[in-house]
Amino acid sequence: MFDYQSAFESAVERVRGEGRYRVFADLKRVRGAFPRAVRRRPDGSEQDVVVWCSNDYLGMGQNPVVLDAMQQAIAEAGAGAGGTRNISGTTRWHVDLEAELADWHGKAAALLFTSGYVANEATLSTLQRLLPGLIVFSDSLNHASMIAGIRHGGCERHIFAHNDLEHLENLLKAAPADAPKLIAFESVYSMDGDIADLAGTVALARKYGALTYLDEVHAVGLYGDRGAGIAEREGLMEEIDIIEGTLGKAIGVMGGYIAGSAALVDAIRLWAPGFIFTTALPPALTAGALASVRYLKQARNLRLDHQARAAELKARLMSQGIPVMPSVSHIVPVLVGDPVHCKMVSDLLLDEHGIYVQPINYPTVPKGTERLRFTPSPDHDDGMMEALVTAMDRLWTHCNVARRPAAA
Ligand code: PLP
Repeated sequence: MFDYQSAFESAVERVRGEGRYRVFADLKRVRGAFPRAVRRRPDGSEQDVVVWCSNDYLGMGQNPVVLDAMQQAIAEAGAGAGGTRNISGTTRWHVDLEAELADWHGKAAALLFTSGYVANEATLSTLQRLLPGLIVFSDSLNHASMIAGIRHGGCERHIFAHNDLEHLENLLKAAPADAPKLIAFESVYSMDGDIADLAGTVALARKYGALTYLDEVHAVGLYGDRGAGIAEREGLMEEIDIIEGTLGKAIGVMGGYIAGSAALVDAIRLWAPGFIFTTALPPALTAGALASVRYLKQARNLRLDHQARAAELKARLMSQGIPVMPSVSHIVPVLVGDPVHCKMVSDLLLDEHGIYVQPINYPTVPKGTERLRFTPSPDHDDGMMEALVTAMDRLWTHCNVARRPAAA
């Protein structure tokens, strides 16, 4: 008979053998003291830590405006939504949040999903059913959820080299002029911190008659005058056909969405299994996200503080010769270049310094580019930053990881 358990065990061993076995950090975030958290060690003892890798980029997950709205919604409406959006699960918070998100992105409509992953997977696969013969052009570093949606749809697809518009144009040129086309890309790429050329991509989309699908998951709340993302910052929201975002990162709660024309959003609402056949987000989550988005539309100073903290951390690390990768965003990736060292540095940071940063290994990033990815928020103060830079400096020597000359 088939030995199921040894098949599972050997799958785990393959990962362990490559030094990229994943271990969760068991954390309790301390409300009111973000980015501080209490870690429960494997032996049950507790340790105070500072979290340096949260995607709650602005600390909105503890903002009283958000917490009050969530508590109020629980007090008024209870815990779960109680059904799918079509069957009793739509509340006033879902409706208001969709209107708020549409307004944020300058679009006629928006549609909520249970996560950003589901929003990408469901929308990109459903677009292929709505547009038979669709050809998708996808950036090579797109997130796994976009890749899953594109593959699931089963259409013809072409991968263009990351941010390489010349390659994209060659692929567009080679496709039949009258075929429906879609360019799928991200604004801020979260593992490198680089930003796509939105204007160049939009120009190509116009020239070749393609729709544009932009994942702004790592930009919503953070860029643009009202925080709607890079498309807002570049004055290009109108030019992008579909903007996708998450409520789980800078917005501080959970959920995902798309925003676009009324017809497009309605078609996805009516056709996407990943939207139709699943329980709606709980009222408290939608109420919290609604309060968060409203707050973020006004939070210009928070965004300035956030950028200033990221710039400060990059400068401090580079002054020690720590190889910060060339990020032009709030993300601070530091190259280690091998999975074993990467895990060793992150284990020592946690165990000996109470600094929590998760190692980022293959398959999240290509082999040989393993890294630590820091996400400083406005709440990471000077003392925390000093402690981090001192510990990194020490561990870089201790673990014999390559430095970069300070001038580089
Ligand atoms: N898109 C990108 C680029 C992401 O990095 C992520 C999350 O990690 C997602 C989509 C999925 O968003 P969510 O965490 O809301 O499922």
